[in-house]
Amino acid sequence: MEDQPARYTIGWIAPLPLELTAAKAVLDEDHGDIHADGYIYHGGKIGKHNVVMAVQPKMGTDAASDLAARVRATFKNVGYFVVVGIGGGVPNYGPSGARSQIVLGDVVVSYPRGRYGGIVPYDVGAWINEGRLEFRGHADGPPASLLAAVNSLKASHSMTPGTKIPTILQEMRLKIHADERENFEDQGSQQDRLYQDNYSHPVSPSNEACENCCDVNRSHKRDSRGIEAARRIDTPKIHYGNIGSSNQLQISASKRNRLHEECEIICFEMEGAGVIKNHPSLVIRGICDYSDSHKNKKWQPYAAATAAAYTKELLETLPASKHTMKYKELAQEKTKDQKSCLQSLAFKEMNMRGNDISQPTSTTCSWLLEHESYQSWVSQQNGLLWIKGNPGVGKSTLMKYALHECKRQAPVNNELVIASFFFHGRGSPLQKSPLGLFRSLLYQILNQVPKLLHEFTSIFKNKCDTEGEPGTNWDWHQTELRDFLQSSIPPVSKVRPIRIYIDALDECGEEVARDLVKVFQCLISELPHTGRATLGICFSCRHYPIIALERGLTMCVEKENYDDIATHVRSELDREDLEQNDAQKLKEEIVKSASGVFQWVVLVVPMVLEFYRNGRSIDEILAKLRDIPKQLDDLYREILGKVKPEYRSETLQLMQWICFARRPLSIPELRSAMAMDADTHYETLNDHQNSPKYVRTDKQMEKRVKSLSGGLIEVVEHAGLHIAQFIHQSVNDHLITGGIRTLENFAEGSVAGLAHFRLSRSCIRYISMKDVSSISPDKILSEITHQLEITHQFPLLNYATKEWVLHAEKVETEGMSQGDLLHLLRWPSNEMMKIWVRLHKALVPYSNETPPEETTLLHVGSRHGFTSMVAMAILRNDTN
Ligand SMILES: [Zn+2]
Repeated sequence: MEDQPARYTIGWIAPLPLELTAAKAVLDEDHGDIHADGYIYHGGKIGKHNVVMAVQPKMGTDAASDLAARVRATFKNVGYFVVVGIGGGVPNYGPSGARSQIVLGDVVVSYPRGRYGGIVPYDVGAWINEGRLEFRGHADGPPASLLAAVNSLKASHSMTPGTKIPTILQEMRLKIHADERENFEDQGSQQDRLYQDNYSHPVSPSNEACENCCDVNRSHKRDSRGIEAARRIDTPKIHYGNIGSSNQLQISASKRNRLHEECEIICFEMEGAGVIKNHPSLVIRGICDYSDSHKNKKWQPYAAATAAAYTKELLETLPASKHTMKYKELAQEKTKDQKSCLQSLAFKEMNMRGNDISQPTSTTCSWLLEHESYQSWVSQQNGLLWIKGNPGVGKSTLMKYALHECKRQAPVNNELVIASFFFHGRGSPLQKSPLGLFRSLLYQILNQVPKLLHEFTSIFKNKCDTEGEPGTNWDWHQTELRDFLQSSIPPVSKVRPIRIYIDALDECGEEVARDLVKVFQCLISELPHTGRATLGICFSCRHYPIIALERGLTMCVEKENYDDIATHVRSELDREDLEQNDAQKLKEEIVKSASGVFQWVVLVVPMVLEFYRNGRSIDEILAKLRDIPKQLDDLYREILGKVKPEYRSETLQLMQWICFARRPLSIPELRSAMAMDADTHYETLNDHQNSPKYVRTDKQMEKRVKSLSGGLIEVVEHAGLHIAQFIHQSVNDHLITGGIRTLENFAEGSVAGLAHFRLSRSCIRYISMKDVSSISPDKILSEITHQLEITHQFPLLNYATKEWVLHAEKVETEGMSQGDLLHLLRWPSNEMMKIWVRLHKALVPYSNETPPEETTLLHVGSRHGFTSMVAMAILRNDTN
């Protein structure tokens, strides 16, 4: 059979049947129709490539997106798509004095230009209502290998013998049925009329051809458009630039011109955005009209032919696809041991941070791919790339974009091993430690490299045999994982290229960050300079002075993100019905003041819009804008300074919990924590929950969290759990380095010490509530459903039981005295300790942190260094 889906490596989307006719005619070898999964495709060969062609059942970007997904599902080796068909052109573009003319029959190729990656998805509907352009999805560029082929063809066109398109056109027409052939010929300059911008095609009968109803005196013939518009027969000009793509037809000269001005769009079509959204692809369009109200059926076949001819020439220059996809490897079922081995590395917060980071808005970040350092990093064999920048400039969003692009372009070369980690300073211990980094990286790499998984599983099995259950009897240690990575990455990288992306290195602490950079450098430097090893590590981090990168590349985000910030501000302001001029003035002022700090803009734009909604004049708003502090730290201070005096202490308490809790707290936990202050006089939770201070619902709590924090805390959702965290690491840093004093000027005592004091006392008070201490530990242990029920009924129980000791330990290390523990824990009675030990055993049965049965308060005190408490007990002479 001819239809072996695996051999096809390029998908060719021909939106219309007419376009498929042209496409088939450029095949070197025709494999005929392929019937698969109830659909019909067409296969063939061009140059060294097997190409599968598909026509759309209906028009539009959504249909194109569905079709591409269907092709990818059936033809698993399809690495990318070409979308080839007809489109509407912008008559001329480029700098005045050197305008390029697009004429009918010319070809436009999607190519990154300005802030866009070659395809600009836009929504005409939103635009018509005199709003502004509304972008949806990504404006992604074509994959690197295709872009390279486009560039090389572009260069060869400007040299003799030039393009092969005229020959291809002649040859392809021979394959088209004689009755149709004439339609696929160059229609000639006489048939190419460009109507004046202000002259529309009559609304009715709109289907009538222009020559029957339009005034030719209001049009320009091609010959009158200057030397730039002249073409020899069958010799279209190729234009490279942004193509606007939407579900709706572009049908007015004024809209066309405006889109051209705003986004440098030179061609309009209806499919590309749907395909490029999820798959690497290149869009190629033959021009059949001028994207105005004058539609022209006459040029459509020839335009389809020139687009197909260009695509053929392009594919001929494209090197053979390296599709050596390891089918068997991928399909291979993992053994039970391999699965448990991977499980021992995974942890539930592993992907949370990466998922949380906001997607770059439609058109931001694309500069990265064109940046010199990024390009050299991608093209060099081995190397480090340090994306550096001040807090809040948007490093994480950029890293997410880089990773997305890397994955999107990866199918071109299925061998590439990709791994990433996003450090999260406000997250759980594993989210901000090297252990978490190594576990996550190894998990990802092992999943992609079966041979390595095999090796590592034997280490894992060995440990299980000698030490017992993973997670209970033993856990991975960061040094063993690091050593394994260091010894296994070099050999793997000789066979399969590896790319690793690591975000926010600084969020694991400055010292640790430096050590990690040394580890990366070691990895890279140990690779042979010659030979085939390929390893690229890209990480983002603040400007730490001491990290010196040998053989490393750097880029500085605040120097590059000006356009991104401007785009963001513009799209935010556009949500309001601001006057054009006012919007422009505001945008300029905001972008100027931001000096590259995205986070600043994110906080300031809502303030500005608030002023506007309150009816402030533009001059007033500008004046207020100039008064807003320019440094993030000062801005945070101002925001906290605005908290009403009656809410200050509550805000302080909230900030202390969010800053110093040992892990992020869920909203129910936070509700209990906030209500349970150290000095509460209630004796049961039940009484307490009936007090007026208690927040009754999670929804209400979420609102309170946002308003108390002045918007500095956000609530994010993970697996159904709502978690409160600072909107940015810089808020956290600001508060712990003294910013929290804005809320209460403690005369003495360390910020951290006071917070840990409060948190530990809240936990102890919680455990000593009568209804909490009377929970039966047996009941918790007996069944998992009881455990869930109890943690639901007592949200803070888990946290309070596990963490009070560690908070109290910190109080001591911060040099604060805590003799009051004796009273709180009802010393010299050991009752409280017994309750605590029982609860601890029930909640975390197999942990080595579980205290032994007969633990007394003095044991805990000695073990955790509560020196001041032990001294007080001795002084009271009741140490038993
Ligand atoms: Zn007309």
